[in-house]
Amino acid sequence: MAEIPADLETVLKDAHLPALMTALVHMTGDTHWLRSEWTPVYNPLSRGDPGIPEEEQAKIRAEAAKAIRAYLEGKPMAMPNPPIDVLRRQMDFVAGAEIPEQYVDFLTDELVLKGRSSKDPHFEAPPVQAAARKMKVLIVGAGMSGLLTGIRLSQAGVPFEIVDKNADVGGTWFENTYPGCRVDNSNHMYSYSFEPNHAWPQHFSPQPVLLEYFRGIAKKHDLKKHIRFETLVEQLAWDEAKEVWRATLKGKDGKTEVVEATAVVTAVGQLNRPRMPDIEGLGTFEGPAFHSAEWRHDVDLKGKRVVVIGTGASAYQFVPEIAPEVAKLTVFQRNPPWGLPVPHYHEDVPDGMKWTLEHVPFYDKWYRFWLFWMTTEGFLPMVKTDPSWNGSPDAVSPANAMLRDMATESYRMQLAERPDLLPKVTPNYPIGGKRAVLDNGVWLAALKRDNVELVTEKVARITPKGVVTADGREYEADVLIYGTGFQASNFLSFLKVKGRGGRDLHESWGGDARAYLGITHPGFPNFFTIYGPNTNIVVNGSIIFFSECAVRYIVGCLHLLAETGARALEPRQDVYDDFNRKVDEANAGWAWGSPNVSSWYKNSFGRVSQNWPFGLIDYWRATLAPNPDDFVLERAPEPVG
Ligand code: NAP
Repeated sequence: MAEIPADLETVLKDAHLPALMTALVHMTGDTHWLRSEWTPVYNPLSRGDPGIPEEEQAKIRAEAAKAIRAYLEGKPMAMPNPPIDVLRRQMDFVAGAEIPEQYVDFLTDELVLKGRSSKDPHFEAPPVQAAARKMKVLIVGAGMSGLLTGIRLSQAGVPFEIVDKNADVGGTWFENTYPGCRVDNSNHMYSYSFEPNHAWPQHFSPQPVLLEYFRGIAKKHDLKKHIRFETLVEQLAWDEAKEVWRATLKGKDGKTEVVEATAVVTAVGQLNRPRMPDIEGLGTFEGPAFHSAEWRHDVDLKGKRVVVIGTGASAYQFVPEIAPEVAKLTVFQRNPPWGLPVPHYHEDVPDGMKWTLEHVPFYDKWYRFWLFWMTTEGFLPMVKTDPSWNGSPDAVSPANAMLRDMATESYRMQLAERPDLLPKVTPNYPIGGKRAVLDNGVWLAALKRDNVELVTEKVARITPKGVVTADGREYEADVLIYGTGFQASNFLSFLKVKGRGGRDLHESWGGDARAYLGITHPGFPNFFTIYGPNTNIVVNGSIIFFSECAVRYIVGCLHLLAETGARALEPRQDVYDDFNRKVDEANAGWAWGSPNVSSWYKNSFGRVSQNWPFGLIDYWRATLAPNPDDFVLERAPEPVG
């Protein structure tokens, strides 16, 4: 039995009260926890304060403590599986708003109250199992999505091998080790739905913690024996006669090997190839120069003159970390990021919250549900373009303008003694146009330091001594750091893929990568991409959700092959074309599609090639299971005679 803290009421002060009250419905079977006068009223930028008067909150906690104590002392759980009307009331209550009917099945699935999820593979039928055992899937990448694919294929009984260029698992969390690197999505949501971590040390934990989580997952699911590290998949070629992929792998020693696979899943993320800026003189700098994703820990920045180019999500995290130790820091900014006030960005998860997550059944699920709703579908309307909006171009709707005003006010307050910085750091594009960053004050505090200078003049060239701006001024430096992002729209640039009839994937894309649901590609049988074209999210939630949906769909495609005896499948061209037309139309309706925004979400054609333009619910529904009518299925030839 769990030890019950003597000061349980105090411990519960750290819990998210509406999630706790919702969990108590299961424990007590009593719905009075959801009474209307206790319905939370959240401020969109608050950290979940329910807006209930403090004395009332104290009464609720006292009652909750009694119920939890009774349960932990042996009283049975009264309502582990609430009827649908109660479940709906629970959802509305914790969200503080009525959840629309069309979301109920989706959110019920996300809650996983009964321990079953639509994302669990079902390969129970013996003929399906037998066919699955004969497959071999090659997974490219051992990061978040690759490990997930391995776990699901293990559960399905499909043999697989994972190949990764790095020396360990973790992908982006292995590669990005710059100071201050941390997840900018709430950790209790940025974790696999089936592998919650009640011990996250912070709401937004630092990179080493994330890397440990993924290492722990690989160990728990015994994945390492399936992984070849320090190996690059250089080429994939579809063998028409054998109907298999032939993959050329190159090891650390430079030797190549060809392996065969029934299907290939690329799980390489969108942000894994650093982008160096197109600036004259790049490479001429005499001192150490490196990209944020290839941080040189051997370069001591103490007392040095450091130049940083870029002010995106990465620089936003490392600039405040290095500013106090360097002699002089010059930050070159092309466009400033929008910061959304999140005061607890660097705070520890309080012990009481950890205790509640671990010991109060269903609390973790409802807390995650609340985060999920508030930061995903619940937030999306704030960045939706209102076609009738005729206000300034730094907003796309009245709600978006309200958010801009809140964020601007927060900047103004932080810069009370440095009003000269305000116009420099205030973006002229709408919130949601680019990835917003989480503002707890450290960014502007760094820019206000005496040893830090924010330069908005265009960088004209790099010289052996430093950087020269368009106005001819030279900034001498000892170290140059590029926070200039990734070659995101250059999907799979490292990989040559030859499909049916020798068709080349990159040639068929012509620099404008597309896919059906981000996952399948006409002419490329049994070839699946996770976090592929048009599956990135800007403001709404955790990319792990997208990977879980994509993997469910891919596993569904393998099930379809096993079930039908087909050798290969690929999407119909018309289905693919129709899907992509809808994606392009829809992307125009969001802040990131606004014509006055340039970002890594748009490719060289100006098309938004990265982002998913619908709700999470739409991706969840579209990827529930493959629709056989969307595909061309290649059947094995009938035996002769
Ligand atoms: P980024 O957001 O693409 O930022 C690149 C920065 O470099 C921008 O400020 C860009 O300016 C600037 N830049 C590029 N070329 C330049 C040039 N020639 N001269 C001057 N400035 C130039 O890259 P990132 O910061 O690495 O982040 C990429 C993505 O990674 C993020 O959007 C996010 O999705 C993800 N990320 C997540 C986390 C997290 O979860 N913790 C942390 C870091 C990154 P413009 O804005 O004018 O293009």
